[in-house]
Amino acid sequence: MSGGGRTVYIAGAGIAGLTLALALAKFGATVVVLERNKAIQEVGAGLQVSPNARHVLNQLGLDRQVAARSLEPAGIDVFPFRARRPLTTLQLGGAMVERYGAPYAVMHRADLADVLYRACKRFANIEIVFGVRSFDAESHARGVSVTADEAGGSSRSSRAFAFVGADGVRSRTRTELLGGGAAVYTGAVAWRATLPMADLRGAIAPDRTTLLFGPGYHAVCYPLPHRNQVNIALFAREKPGRAFGPNPPRQPQLPWAALPSEHFRIITEAATGAWNYWPLFRVETDAWHQGAIGLIGDAAHAMMPFQAQGAAMAIEDAAVLAPLLISEPDAASAFAHYTALRRQRVERVRRLSDFNGFAFHLEWPFTLGRNAVLALQGSRGHFKRLDWLYGYRAAPDPAIGAPVRTGSLHPPA
Ligand SMILES: Cc1cc2nc3c(=O)[nH]c(=O)nc-3n(C[C@H](O)[C@H](O)[C@H](O)COP(=O)(O)OP(=O)(O)OC[C@H]3O[C@@H](n4cnc5c(N)ncnc54)[C@H](O)[C@@H]3O)c2cc1C
Repeated sequence: MSGGGRTVYIAGAGIAGLTLALALAKFGATVVVLERNKAIQEVGAGLQVSPNARHVLNQLGLDRQVAARSLEPAGIDVFPFRARRPLTTLQLGGAMVERYGAPYAVMHRADLADVLYRACKRFANIEIVFGVRSFDAESHARGVSVTADEAGGSSRSSRAFAFVGADGVRSRTRTELLGGGAAVYTGAVAWRATLPMADLRGAIAPDRTTLLFGPGYHAVCYPLPHRNQVNIALFAREKPGRAFGPNPPRQPQLPWAALPSEHFRIITEAATGAWNYWPLFRVETDAWHQGAIGLIGDAAHAMMPFQAQGAAMAIEDAAVLAPLLISEPDAASAFAHYTALRRQRVERVRRLSDFNGFAFHLEWPFTLGRNAVLALQGSRGHFKRLDWLYGYRAAPDPAIGAPVRTGSLHPPA
């Protein structure tokens, strides 16, 4: 399969856009990525990279680079509210590789973006245009006409085979080119902080992920040893009036009744002044594509991060769409085929993420049922239930792992 001759424009150099650019370039397509920022941004914080996403990254030749900048936690310790010992430990480490053929890792989002960006830079057939002020795309019988205003006042206009919106939760491609709706506030926010490990005073294990349940909130913490930091994400409800009002909250206010949880107390004290406030939005739209214009990643299906799958779905999207944009006779059929392959799975992951939000935030006495189920099913039972998620192969075509010899590859950096 060779994509020589096909040009694909991508809006957004995030996880979805860079993964798609790389996958397409490996098939020999010419790729132009339009990014509004002036550089790859250090935004976000930690990401869990599950085996279903890692398979794609590995097939793109990034196994070593991801491994060098991530941690493979030994497990996930699950603590019910105020528990001093974990109720259960979900075994990761070697158990993941054994079960799914790829590790479960944690890393900083900026490190993953950088790994993808560096890999893209090795391809002469990928152009990443930073500082794009605006873009437009119009689908027609022979593909798509694209215009973009670039930094410095220059502009470009060209014809392409397809235009892919990978421009995130507030996607302009979705709302303005495809007529899809705006992202919707979920009523929940993420409080994110990265702290020196020592600040947590032993509350968080240095080799594993810690999952803490609370009444109406939860937290996920894991070490980022390459940065000598620990990533904390605390999720809580927040009324829209307060979330978007003139005085948005500066730190989480947890309703922990009379007796606080030791874990949450240490975390919130340590992170005072270091929190980043992140309202959570969802995207549910039927407008995934029209003609030669389509969507991937958060632009198509931003979801609650409670199964840690948003970026993983974006990576899978890219792996499924890339070969279709090479092999299908036109972009419209590529997008239709991609949508048929992806929509059900993404919806299932979305439902699971929503369910987790419900289960993680339960209050006493309903916690008793949840905790009993978790203890009873144990680690093996937990992952057996999730085989459909982590065992999925988005890119079964081994050709994706073998760069097409276009003669246009830069020498390795
Ligand atoms: C608290 C939290 C924790 C999470 N944890 C996990 C996790 O553990 N695992 C996981 O898999 N997922 C996780 N996610 C989800 C994950 O971060 C997102 O799903 C993922 O980053 C989406 O990637 P994307 O490329 O679609 O969008 P983005 O990463 O948002 O990238 C969009 C890109 O498009 C660019 N752009 C936007 N508008 C324009 C424009 N008009 N013109 C040009 N460029 C534009 C942006 O600058 C950006 O570079 C988490 C999310 C949150 C909020």
